[in-house]
Amino acid sequence: MFLPRSLHDCARLSCRTFASSVRTPMKVVPVPVRQDNYAYLLVDEGTNKAAAVDPFDVAKVASAAEGLGVSIVAAITTHHHPDHSGGNGDFARKYPNAPIYGGSDKVESVSKIIKDKDEFRIGDNIHVRCLATPCHTQDSICYYVTDPTDASHPGGVFTGDTLFVGGCGRFFEGTGDEMNRALKYLGTLPDKTIVYNGHEYTASNLAFGKFVEPNSPGIARLSEIVKNNDVTTGKTTIAEEKEWNVFIRLDAPAIRQVGLSFLFSPY
Ligand SMILES: [Zn+2]
Repeated sequence: MFLPRSLHDCARLSCRTFASSVRTPMKVVPVPVRQDNYAYLLVDEGTNKAAAVDPFDVAKVASAAEGLGVSIVAAITTHHHPDHSGGNGDFARKYPNAPIYGGSDKVESVSKIIKDKDEFRIGDNIHVRCLATPCHTQDSICYYVTDPTDASHPGGVFTGDTLFVGGCGRFFEGTGDEMNRALKYLGTLPDKTIVYNGHEYTASNLAFGKFVEPNSPGIARLSEIVKNNDVTTGKTTIAEEKEWNVFIRLDAPAIRQVGLSFLFSPY
């Protein structure tokens, strides 16, 4: 098992260090768990404190934190599905003083139930804003993270199973209208916001995107990213989703031609 032990190794894991003139860079390190899920460490390097996002495999996430020399102080849960919240019981036992954030009491071991527009901090510097995006589950929350002390930080968003790179989650507890609203809501984040999604589904999303919009320049660029990266999370932005994600581009002529009922039929 490879664990990041330096910034160089960290780059291999596609983490983003938000270098800044102030001494408080924010760092996001993906930790692959299960077959294709992503847990993450969201690190405030000013204090070496970190939040674990969807820490399904607590031992693996804890080892990654140890390798980075950071202390885990909170868990952030994107939704109640077991492949995302299923490690929370272990997490609560290992880190009894750390809050576990989530959108409903269906989230295993949740200790802080949050709602749309709630805000909290990780360490001294990382600001987290909650965006309720009900559809995949009714308790789906996306977390927009920034360092307010440095406006040059692009910021990031943990999207769970709501927004995938080039796709979106299944509508297990919601409607197409709700997903449309959720994706539009995420589209209000700054263009430069980095997307950190819940699964490595990008290659199959690309195949579907190619079928729907075969001549799209955005799809061509996403093809390059998929070709060159096994881990695509953390490598793309909200602006790029607007260029290649067919579920956001509902007004594009090729998508209108295909028809929304077809687009949403597998879901
Ligand atoms: Zn899910």
